[in-house]
Amino acid sequence: MKQFSDARPRLVLGKRAQQALFTDISQRAQIEACGILLGAMDADGNWWIEEARALTNTADSPVYFEFDPAELLEAELAYPGQIMGVYHSHPTGFPRASNTDRANMQRVNQQEGIAWAWLIISGPFDADFQKRAHGTIATAPLIAYFHPDNHDLQRIPLILSEDDAPLPPTK
Ligand SMILES: [Zn+2]
Repeated sequence: MKQFSDARPRLVLGKRAQQALFTDISQRAQIEACGILLGAMDADGNWWIEEARALTNTADSPVYFEFDPAELLEAELAYPGQIMGVYHSHPTGFPRASNTDRANMQRVNQQEGIAWAWLIISGPFDADFQKRAHGTIATAPLIAYFHPDNHDLQRIPLILSEDDAPLPPTK
């Protein structure tokens, strides 16, 4: 079953993951919330995300995030082969990848050869946001990236699924 006619890979976020992301950005509204996206990749290279798990931002900063390497390793062992990407928030509202983000994406995707999708959720996550959000991230500016081999950084289409945990199509 072919889900998408367009050959460009996309990031599908399930409902459960969207809710976890909303909780995290709301609870850490003053710093960059960050974590991992868990799921599977299909044969066309689309990312299917079932869960999002928050990780510590050791930088504890509104403009920067850094994972604790030990915590990330623990997650890799706990969810072998299931980490499909990472997310972080921009509580200041900057609605695209920073230069630091771009450098990280290139390093991980191209140099390290890890096919993570990158999701950025932009704020501000203030009272106004909470009022119009109704418990979802759908009203926040969302942007996703991937840095393919021999190519510039690409924005990837993002789909907010109504399914709790969408599954990749079986071929
Ligand atoms: Zn960033």
